[in-house]
Amino acid sequence: MSTPAAALQRERIRYKILVVEDEADIRELLRYNLAQEGFAVEEAGDGAEALDRIARRVPDLLVLDLMLPQMSGLELCRRMRSNPDTTKLPILVVTAKGAEVDRILGLEMGADDYVVKPFSPREVVARVKALLRRANPANEPAAPGNYDRGRLKIDFSTYEVFVDGQPRELALREFELLRFFVQHPMRVYSREQLLDLVWGRDTFVEPRTVDVHVRRLRQQIERDDANPELILTVRSVGYRFNPEALG
Ligand code: CA
Repeated sequence: MSTPAAALQRERIRYKILVVEDEADIRELLRYNLAQEGFAVEEAGDGAEALDRIARRVPDLLVLDLMLPQMSGLELCRRMRSNPDTTKLPILVVTAKGAEVDRILGLEMGADDYVVKPFSPREVVARVKALLRRANPANEPAAPGNYDRGRLKIDFSTYEVFVDGQPRELALREFELLRFFVQHPMRVYSREQLLDLVWGRDTFVEPRTVDVHVRRLRQQIERDDANPELILTVRSVGYRFNPEALG
């Protein structure tokens, strides 16, 4: 009998990750740590080399440094998103501290997640795995109709929510918002997108309505709703759900 974990491990070996980074020592650090996890890792030192490799075979995920010679990571990211073959390619951006973080996460650029230099290799690996899980939901051994991670349990068929084993009373809209967040972890959504995706396109409500519901939801599921760690505010962009904080 093979366990889901073993199957996932086998599956993961087939995942190909392209690391695009001009600094050789950082590239090697990334390559080493990802290879240790069983990923097949390819490397590119600049945008042109990356495009060349991607044209030959689209990887399962891109780890992309923003500061590259000639073509910037930003430009490469845009090209990925405008090409139908790579429009859904998961992209983890690696960036210098403080640099354009809001824009990177932002919807215009289309990266899926980011880590700030200097990063811990463990964090990079964790983000890579999370992005691959999201992009390949068939590998997720979760039972359909339920969400069960750390201190949060959700039964989508009965609309029950438990935090640390305690039932929480959520209004329907908060429940739908929570369902959306847990099903779309890590990615940043603007208020307008959340209105479209959770409320529905035909609803005429103000974007700040989303803030009201996020606040109520935080009161129900965060340990300290003044310092949220699950539903994070991304300044001047919107919100993202961070399941890592569930433990
Ligand atoms: Ca660089």
